[in-house]
Parts: sequence; structure tokens; C-alpha cells
Amino acid sequence: MDHKEIHKCVIIGSGPAGYTAAIYASRANLSPVLYQGIEPGGQLMLTTEVENYPGYPAGILGPEMMEDFRKQAERMGTKIVYGRVSSVDFSGKVHKLIIDEKDEVLAHTVIISTGASAKWLGLESEKRLSSGGVSACAVCDGFFHKGKAVAIVGAGDTAAEEALYLSKLCTEVHMLVRRDEMRASKVMQDRVLKTKNIKMYWNSETDEVLGDKTVEAVRIKNIKTNETTTVPISGFFVAIGHQPNSDIFKPYIELNHLGYIKTQMGTATNVAGVFAAGDVQDHHYRQAVTAAGTGCMAALDAERYLSAHGIE
Ligand code: NDP
Repeated sequence: MDHKEIHKCVIIGSGPAGYTAAIYASRANLSPVLYQGIEPGGQLMLTTEVENYPGYPAGILGPEMMEDFRKQAERMGTKIVYGRVSSVDFSGKVHKLIIDEKDEVLAHTVIISTGASAKWLGLESEKRLSSGGVSACAVCDGFFHKGKAVAIVGAGDTAAEEALYLSKLCTEVHMLVRRDEMRASKVMQDRVLKTKNIKMYWNSETDEVLGDKTVEAVRIKNIKTNETTTVPISGFFVAIGHQPNSDIFKPYIELNHLGYIKTQMGTATNVAGVFAAGDVQDHHYRQAVTAAGTGCMAALDAERYLSAHGIE
């Protein structure tokens, strides 16, 4: 008879939520195993300076901060594994996870902290210039374009917020909106439209981002008239939404209409023993510090679940 080990706690994802859950779960003697996924460190690996995470008075580079998180989790006793959870089976009392499409892992509790990924336009030039001025985070990279002109694509609340943020740093913000109206809330639209150095381009899409190694200009196409305009810029910001990494959980876990995991009473999902933390369940705040906070909550919730079920 097969007596396969059942882990007390398996954590999926290695951003601030996953590592914080790991630190708390380790210290509560849950011997957690954390699967890092294909992008260890999560979205912070794509950022440069982080200045708004408390405890780093001089700021810190995103990848360095995630290395600190990883070391702390490891020092507390978390087993960190490089591997991707490719599917799950949450139909039984014990939860099953398939790693890299082959190995099966069993767990009494699972903490999902798989994060979200920024959506991109899909242009070749956008990809080619990804480390030369193309960004999906104004708060992270706006600073590099201080005193210069930039462009931003999108018309939701995120785009509005980021355009306003950029308008305080940059000489001009060229905002590309694909329809003749914005999706953002009225108050955000008003703020954008009232800001003198934000220039609106309605019914417009990005024809191409121009530049050899760094962004030099954007060619904008008016989709009503087919006219193109080339505008010199140093930064190209894409703010067309995020995609939560929740696909593999869909058969079992309740998601909202945007694909984010629904949580209640802290971090509980609709499946007993499965908890969710960080951006995969939060489309509103999306900050490293809030993700870390919910990671802590998920570990405490997992620990209480195990105690309540007499699992030592
Ligand atoms: P949204 O999905 O709300 O908006 C995405 C925007 O990008 C839309 O205007 C959409 O255009 C545009 N877009 C999508 N694909 C393309 C494309 N290929 N080319 C050009 N434009 C494109 O995403 P957000 O990230 O803005 O917001 C997500 C959620 O978070 C929303 O519910 C929002 O209200 C909320 N939020 C709230 C904030 C706050 O309250 N302070 C701050 C930030 C977000 P179209 O309109 O034509 O579909």
C-alpha cells in the first residue's frame, strides 16, 4: 500500500504573498513546501527600485528584495522547490497538486499566491524594447523619465491613475485611448482631462513603438481616419489591465468576473483547506506590502484550519 506523505501546507507562488505565508507557516511548524513557479519572485523581479516597502529606508531593488524574502523563508525552514504546479485536484479532503505535469504532491492545506501578470499589446517592438523604456508600471519606472515626454496606453482606472502619476514627473503624457471614451470612473476621467500636460488621442492605437535599443518615439494610428502621427517619447507605458494567474484552479475555485479568486473571512476560498493571498485575489490594491499582509493571513488561516481538524 502506498503511504505517500501528505504535507501540512503547500504554498504556490514566490512573490511577497507566497514568501510571507512561508515565513509564518514555517514558524508555526507547518513544514511548508513552496513551489516557486516559472517566474520566481513574481512581478517584483520586473521592477527596479522599490521605495514604498516599509523597512527599507534607502529603498531596494525589486529582485534584491525578493531574494531577502526567499532567504528569510528558507532560514525559517521552508522547503523551496523550483517547479510549476501545472494542475490541481481539489475534489477530495486531501488536495492533490501535479508538478510540471508529472509528479503528484498531496497536502492538507494549500495557499494559492500565484499573482497576476500585466497584459501587453502584443507588438514586436513592445517586446524588443521591454528593457529599454517599455513598462507596465508607472509607479515603478516613471522616475526614469523625469523631465521627458512619455506615452501611455489604456483608458481604465489604472491608466488614469498612472497617467496622473506620470504627469507630475514628465513634461508631456500622450494618452492613447482606443475608443472615443474612457472606461475609468468619472472622477478619474475628470482629473485626467483637466491635467494640462496629458494629451488625449481618442480612437487611437499604437501602430509601433520606435527605437533601436531604447524607446525614441511612438507611431499612433487614428482608427477612424487611418491617419498616423509620430510623437517623440522616452517611455512607453502599457496600462490595459492585469490577468490573474488563476486558470488552473478554475474547475474547483470560485473566481469573480475578472478571474480573481473570491475569498471570504480572511483568505478562505470556497474549498475547505485552500486559501488565497496576494494579487491573485486582489485586483484593487496590488501592492507588495498588501500581498505580504494577506500572505501572513493565509498562513494563520491554514494553521487554524489544521488545528480545528486535529492535523498535527
Ligand atoms: P480595465 O480592464 O478596467 O481597463 C483596461 C483598459 O485598457 C480599458 O480602457 C480598455 O479599453 C483598454 N485596453 C484593453 N486592451 C487594450 C488594447 N489591446 N489596446 C488598447 N487599449 C486596451 O483595467 P484596469 O487595470 O484599469 O482596472 C482593473 C480594475 O481595477 C477595474 O475594476 C478598476 O476600476 C479597478 N481599479 C481601481 C482603482 C481605484 O479605484 N483607484 C485603481 C486601479 C484600478 P476599453 O475601455 O475600450 O475596453
